[in-house]
Amino acid sequence: MDIIVIGAGIAGITTAYCLHTAGHRVCVIEQQTTVAQKASFGHGGVILPTPFDTWFGPELSFSSWPAWLGGESTRIRLSQNLKNCSWTRRFFKKPNAEQCLTRYARLKPLIDLAAITLAEIETHYAFEFEQRSGILHLFRHASELKRIAPALLFLQQHEHPYQLLNAEECYRAEPSIPMHPPLAGGVFLPDDRSANCPLFAKQLKPVLEEAGVRFLLGRQVARIDPMLARVELEPQQNHFDSTLSHLANPTLESIIADAIVITAGAGSLPLLAQAGVRLPLQLMQLHTIIAPIASEERAPRLTMIDTVRQITMARFNNRLRIAGGLVSPRLTQIQAGLDHKLRQQTLNKVAHAVHDWLPGVTKLSTGSYWDGKRLLSPDGLPIVGATAHPRLWVNLAHGPVGWALACGAAKVLADQMTGRVSEIDEDTLRSLSPARF
Ligand SMILES: Cc1cc2nc3c(=O)[nH]c(=O)nc-3n(C[C@H](O)[C@H](O)[C@H](O)COP(=O)(O)OP(=O)(O)OC[C@H]3O[C@@H](n4cnc5c(N)ncnc54)[C@H](O)[C@@H]3O)c2cc1C
Repeated sequence: MDIIVIGAGIAGITTAYCLHTAGHRVCVIEQQTTVAQKASFGHGGVILPTPFDTWFGPELSFSSWPAWLGGESTRIRLSQNLKNCSWTRRFFKKPNAEQCLTRYARLKPLIDLAAITLAEIETHYAFEFEQRSGILHLFRHASELKRIAPALLFLQQHEHPYQLLNAEECYRAEPSIPMHPPLAGGVFLPDDRSANCPLFAKQLKPVLEEAGVRFLLGRQVARIDPMLARVELEPQQNHFDSTLSHLANPTLESIIADAIVITAGAGSLPLLAQAGVRLPLQLMQLHTIIAPIASEERAPRLTMIDTVRQITMARFNNRLRIAGGLVSPRLTQIQAGLDHKLRQQTLNKVAHAVHDWLPGVTKLSTGSYWDGKRLLSPDGLPIVGATAHPRLWVNLAHGPVGWALACGAAKVLADQMTGRVSEIDEDTLRSLSPARF
């Protein structure tokens, strides 16, 4: 089939890879001038979701409002949202241990498939994208550490390797953590990894181009017609990619194919609305600081996570990437951008995590500050599969684990579109399908 993939974030690029590998002709349309510049750029780096993640683990929210949401300002915005948003109520309803187990069990085959597919690509092309093993979750207070007992049980149930460390052992595992103020302990996941998501995407793009996948960069999809599998592009002056002449009509600026896949992250919402596909999606805004390592001797070896505040601190080459600071904006705020005060407060919280856990390691004043949106479904699972339109497919809403799941979700979608038997079970496929809503 001729397939148009809209969006070249990590979901789009891996979808293009899996579709091409399955024998399809693929054209990727991306509004930015290069790949992985939106949510995929802001990623925290952690590759595989573990049963320990807040997302899946019970008892990791430290108050009736999850503490990782941040401070007062965030809560105020959320409570305003709550008044009339059943989505928010469904999303923040704390799952019990059994529900968490079920949710994780549903996702496990996708996590495994993602790991296998990523490993295949990594090995086959000998990609180096700043992979690093070992993730350390840190807890400042004994009361926090106490409350993670169910999550540790969860790790045991899934035979996921971990070590519960006391403060002394944390300092030994990661000497960059200062001894003052004292910490209560940590959970070390030796086999879990972090890696640079946009770097991976940028390495995969030329491989795909060489194999014949078309990339239309700097072109925004204005409209889609799911019945005809046609996309119309925003006009662009002085530009026409002649390599696409067999697909594109230069007058109408439209492209027709056999099928369309939407992998446009936050940009999926208007496209879905045009197609009349109703999915209960919500945008969350996150913040990232990328700052140069100022002191090599004090730089961390491991990727560290402040689990209570849900802030990841990952070293990539000579930079520290600090990601977190979740805000749930109202639609008007999304359109207009977060107000300066709230953005600043949130970025300060992200910066505070570095002052707290890795003082002096980076020079934050010389860092670059970034915010971006990620798309979430109310049950926290991605949405992958066919829509009600036979020619329109989606691969989106991977929430906090889009980098981790990208290769698996792309493989699932490519198998479905090719009519192949999926490598993952029917229950998981149903849990990912747009039809579940
Ligand atoms: C701060 C932060 C930290 C994170 N940390 C982690 C982590 O540690 N581990 C993990 O696994 N995940 C993490 N995530 C989540 C992960 O980054 C996302 O789930 C993932 O990047 C989503 O990828 P995507 O391709 O769906 O979306 P995006 O990367 O947003 O890509 C969508 C693309 O579609 C394009 N587009 C949109 N509309 C149009 C249009 N109309 N026409 C053409 N192009 C269009 C956009 O320009 C964009 O390039 C994090 C996210 C954030 C924001």
